[in-house]
Amino acid sequence: MTDTTMSVARESVRFDADVTALAVEGLTKSYPAGRNLFGRVTETVDAVRGVSFEVRRGETLALVGESGAGKSTVGRLALRLIEPTSGSVKVLGEDITAMSASDLRKVRARATMIFQDPFKSLNPRAQIGYSISEPMLAQGGYSGADRAKRIATLLDRVGLTAHHLERYPYEMSGGQLQRVAIARALVTDPELVVCDEPVAALDMSIRSHVVNLLRELQQERNLAYLFISHDMSLVRVIADRIAVMKRGELVECADAASLFEKPQQEYTRTLLSAIPASHPSRRTFRPAR
Ligand code: ADP
Ligand code: MG
Repeated sequence: MTDTTMSVARESVRFDADVTALAVEGLTKSYPAGRNLFGRVTETVDAVRGVSFEVRRGETLALVGESGAGKSTVGRLALRLIEPTSGSVKVLGEDITAMSASDLRKVRARATMIFQDPFKSLNPRAQIGYSISEPMLAQGGYSGADRAKRIATLLDRVGLTAHHLERYPYEMSGGQLQRVAIARALVTDPELVVCDEPVAALDMSIRSHVVNLLRELQQERNLAYLFISHDMSLVRVIADRIAVMKRGELVECADAASLFEKPQQEYTRTLLSAIPASHPSRRTFRPAR
């Protein structure tokens, strides 16, 4: 285990607000696993244990691992959608761990999230236009004209039109809805976006379109992505660096090219071996930016 500890430690020591979009340190999240007759928690299980890493501005750090490894829990902890049991989170240089609700709301304009299933993440009773404007309404400080302009710009950028604004989620396809979720996530000009399996729920045929859109938007807006995925062939296309989780712990963290070439952990090798050899992403590799 020593090589694991060393590579993880190396990732966790540096912190520089100018280049760091997200820094998590010693993050642990425990859930109750057993209670006694009186409802008192007698046993807990760590969904995430002692996880430290950082995401630099403008880069994609992929968080990978098999189902149940703790990836989504880390994503939610990173934006404090759930409270950590211990550990700290810095977003764009600010420690959000003990931040007040009003300060946290401001951070939520600069650090946003895209979830796996847009049918679940968007309000089914709200028209698309409202869903996209809602983060601006929650923040306050945007004029009606400014909101309308931002919505129009983003709608166009994600490949939708003004016709869609009055639609409801049930009237749209999964791919269209994920584009709405992307517009919603970007409408307050964030610098960090946590993407939790953002194409896993979409039809195979449209995944690459949405992935390409995310990559283009990253370049245009210098976004940092914490990109959660269990799909190594997708990670290979999108990641600058990769952090590997196994049963709640970070076991390996390295730049994408070296992780694919020389995985340090047996677990990582197993994840990589799940990529079909014939898969196109095996044949090409995006040059380093
Ligand atoms: P992943 O996204 O990698 O599939 P998750 O972060 O969703 O993994 O879950 C990690 C572990 O934590 C799993 O064993 C899951 O059952 C557990 N877990 C997640 N959320 C809760 C919760 N609210 N209550 C109890 N256990 C949870
Ligand atoms: Mg998950």
